[in-house]
Amino acid sequence: MAPSEENKENLFTNKQASDGNKSAGSERKDEDFGYGLYPDRTRRKYKEGSIGESLFTFKHKCNIMLQFTLDTSPYAKLLLGAMRNSGCTVYKDRHFSCEDCDGTVSGGFDAASSQIVLCQNNIHQQGHMNRVVTHELIHAFDHCRARVDWFSNFRHLACSEIRAANLSGDCSFINEISRFNFGLKEHHQECVRSRALRSILAVRKVSREEAERVVDEVFDSCFNDHAPFGRIPHSKKDAKFAHRDFENRDRYHANL
Ligand SMILES: [Zn+2]
Repeated sequence: MAPSEENKENLFTNKQASDGNKSAGSERKDEDFGYGLYPDRTRRKYKEGSIGESLFTFKHKCNIMLQFTLDTSPYAKLLLGAMRNSGCTVYKDRHFSCEDCDGTVSGGFDAASSQIVLCQNNIHQQGHMNRVVTHELIHAFDHCRARVDWFSNFRHLACSEIRAANLSGDCSFINEISRFNFGLKEHHQECVRSRALRSILAVRKVSREEAERVVDEVFDSCFNDHAPFGRIPHSKKDAKFAHRDFENRDRYHANL
């Protein structure tokens, strides 16, 4: 197990869109936006239906765990509901893809295809799957509601990474205990900040100083933006309450 790496993920973005875009860094030319970490994205897909793809493969297990997350995780259910309400209905077959990834990444959101990649070779436990799906759904939610400019606007990327780290449970108490990072309340903020930084540095060729500067610039407003949860869900119980509130949000109006 390598718990410190388990939630590492990625936001990779459209190569084409970066061409001709001004601003942000001089290293532009050899920027690959993290696509190198997802070889299955560029290599042609599996020969569909090949024998290796049948039962009991990582892919099969990944899809089963994904279905379980979508059916049972209050975080995922709330995010899917919120996206449906915003006109971005998520379909399992269209918007999720279990793939082999490089290194220690667990997942990613491909803005070019609006697809969430789940790294079938790196996700082996249901709890981990729940967190990765939630984290990536937060990016997808941001993508849906805000026309995020992932490519040239570094602040948008930083903001979504802060929100994903804050709201997905990546930094929740139990996770932190298991990382032996016992701490105080501010520790949650510190955890969110460092995870956001790590995610950005994994996919962008920017200096640590530059990444820190942008994260600090947007931190307060993005850390305090809890949509669609309405609070920071520190536990499954919190997420359940948030989901219940979300489902009941129109009741008052309906009863008037
Ligand atoms: Zn992320």
